[in-house]
Amino acid sequence: MLSRLELVGFKSFADKTRLDFSPGVTAVVGPNGSGKSNVVDAVRWILGEQSAKSLRGGEMADVIFNGSSSRKSLGMAEVTVTFDNARRLLGVDADEVQVTRRVYRDGTGEYLINGMMSRLKDIKDIFLGTGAGSGGYTIIAQGRVDELLQASTKDRREIFDEAAGISRFKAKKNEALRKLVAVESNLTRSRDRLDGLD
Ligand code: ATP
Repeated sequence: MLSRLELVGFKSFADKTRLDFSPGVTAVVGPNGSGKSNVVDAVRWILGEQSAKSLRGGEMADVIFNGSSSRKSLGMAEVTVTFDNARRLLGVDADEVQVTRRVYRDGTGEYLINGMMSRLKDIKDIFLGTGAGSGGYTIIAQGRVDELLQASTKDRREIFDEAAGISRFKAKKNEALRKLVAVESNLTRSRDRLDGLD
């Protein structure tokens, strides 16, 4: 489903770098410190990760290339991920879904879905229930296996719900229930008014 990743100014990737993922297994290999984990960070970041700490930085702007002995630092980091959506697994009616995230030195940033300015919520909605969203189980970071084994039964259930695609429906159910409560209280108010007219 993940078909392409493009990075510019993200961590150690100062130059535009493109990774194509063909069907099957892809392994990223390289010496220590060469940027393998930065590729994974980029995927987590583009999926809406909000915690700079979990991206191994102090603040969000730390993901921007901060210069090297031979190169000036940059003012912006940009990552674009492309998903094959032929089977419409993501909630967008297009064969390909391209998500772009940018961050500037002042910490501000933006998201685009297929070139259209979008909100973080839109990004989260697309991935909800697919297991690919931030906090999903598709990226197993070092130490996460231990965390899963030690999780409470309730937390573990949430992981299975997300994996099985149930959490998307749970979120919709909760939204519907919230609306029902609002309708119920409107009804009560209307009935009180009607009683007053009698
Ligand atoms: P290991 O095998 O040791 O886990 P790795 O290949 O996963 O290494 P990464 O952790 O992805 O390596 O990359 C670390 C490198 O990225 C370091 O050299 C670090 O200086 C560089 N780096 C991280 N953030 C930035 C940034 N904002 N600007 C420039 N370089 C950065």
